[in-house]
Amino acid sequence: MIPVAEARARILEAMPRMPLEWVALPAAHGRVLARDLHAGRSQPPLAVSAMDGYAVRSEDLREPGARLRIVGEVPAGRVFAGRVGPGEAVRIFTGAPLPEGADAVLMQERAEVSGDLLRAQVALPPGKFVRPAGLDFEAGWKGLGAGHLLDARALGLAAAMGHAWLPVRRRPRVAILATGDELVRPGEVPGPAGIVSSNNPTLMAMVEGWGGDPVDLGIARDRPEDLLHALDQAAGADLLVTSGGASVGAYDLVQDTLVAHGLAVNFWKIAMRPGKPLIFGRFRDIPFLGLPGNPVSAAVCAIVYLRAALLACLGRPTELPVSRAPLAAPLAANDEREDYMRAYWRSDGGQPPRVRPADRQDSSMFATFAHADLLLRRPPRDPARAAGDLVEVIEIARALAR
Ligand code: AMP
Ligand code: MG
Repeated sequence: MIPVAEARARILEAMPRMPLEWVALPAAHGRVLARDLHAGRSQPPLAVSAMDGYAVRSEDLREPGARLRIVGEVPAGRVFAGRVGPGEAVRIFTGAPLPEGADAVLMQERAEVSGDLLRAQVALPPGKFVRPAGLDFEAGWKGLGAGHLLDARALGLAAAMGHAWLPVRRRPRVAILATGDELVRPGEVPGPAGIVSSNNPTLMAMVEGWGGDPVDLGIARDRPEDLLHALDQAAGADLLVTSGGASVGAYDLVQDTLVAHGLAVNFWKIAMRPGKPLIFGRFRDIPFLGLPGNPVSAAVCAIVYLRAALLACLGRPTELPVSRAPLAAPLAANDEREDYMRAYWRSDGGQPPRVRPADRQDSSMFATFAHADLLLRRPPRDPARAAGDLVEVIEIARALAR
């Protein structure tokens, strides 16, 4: 059994960085930048008005009551051809470039206008209601760094910086295969001893959420030829993920069968609960992650290992979102395995929320996992803890969202 941290490190080391591809800006939502992105222009490109009003020379408006003559008009998107001379003003609208000669804007609510004559009710300092060129950003500014996750804000900024196509990391292709004679696909009618494979849809959705491109290889029966046949379909994947058959039962043939056909095992068995029989290696040149079959083990191992593998391919940070919170009840001492317990937030009036582990932690109980708020992480040989002690927690919703 190897420690969790070492297993993670070995997986990260084995994952390739995905190549760069160009996608149109609107299609880049949720993708990861492969290169730094710089501003192709300054924003705003010229000094512009922050108000609807009149472009003026502040030296003409040292005192309230100045009288000026309106000599023209400039809307947003145009450049005024002339210049503002002494005693003159130009009608201006929000976002329009300040005409030459002007250095301030009198807001229209402070101007009494009759015909082409204007009386200013207020005095104005230089620069009043003017947005200088480059106020938002300057040409050449590195607005977004490589590895940035392109959310709605990043797309807006990239567009403002003048980009229509974005260099992103290709989504890692992940082939997902379940194994087990007892399994049927969702929608199929299971036999009396059958169960529906919940691992395929769980892992598919997780991979998608972490920025991967999942391919469902379905279910292989517990026969070597069936397993090998299914894995033929994984050619072209960046990562191959199986669930089930990874343990030591008579029907657990993933390890033996694949080793006989070219699986180079990096490690098998980790000091973790749930998920002891995790396998990692390389099968026909594709990184291979063999998850345990129990649905909670498969899902928790996916959060701890598969997530990191995908984020590494994309050049994203791979750490789990771990924080600390107080226990709601005492906990017995832990054994030699790092423990990931399903847990809930419990808040009683006014108190900061506390962590309550689920009463039963059997790794087949997926319903508990589906409704849990947290994974409570305990290091190996963690001593007994009292209510109120701080423990490490991972918010599951955050871990699923990258
Ligand atoms: P195994 O590792 O193949 O021995 O499976 C361990 C337990 O997990 C068994 O009870 C299986 O029925 C269950 N299991 C395995 N694969 C899946 C799956 N894809 N969906 C739901 N349960 C599964
Ligand atoms: Mg099985």
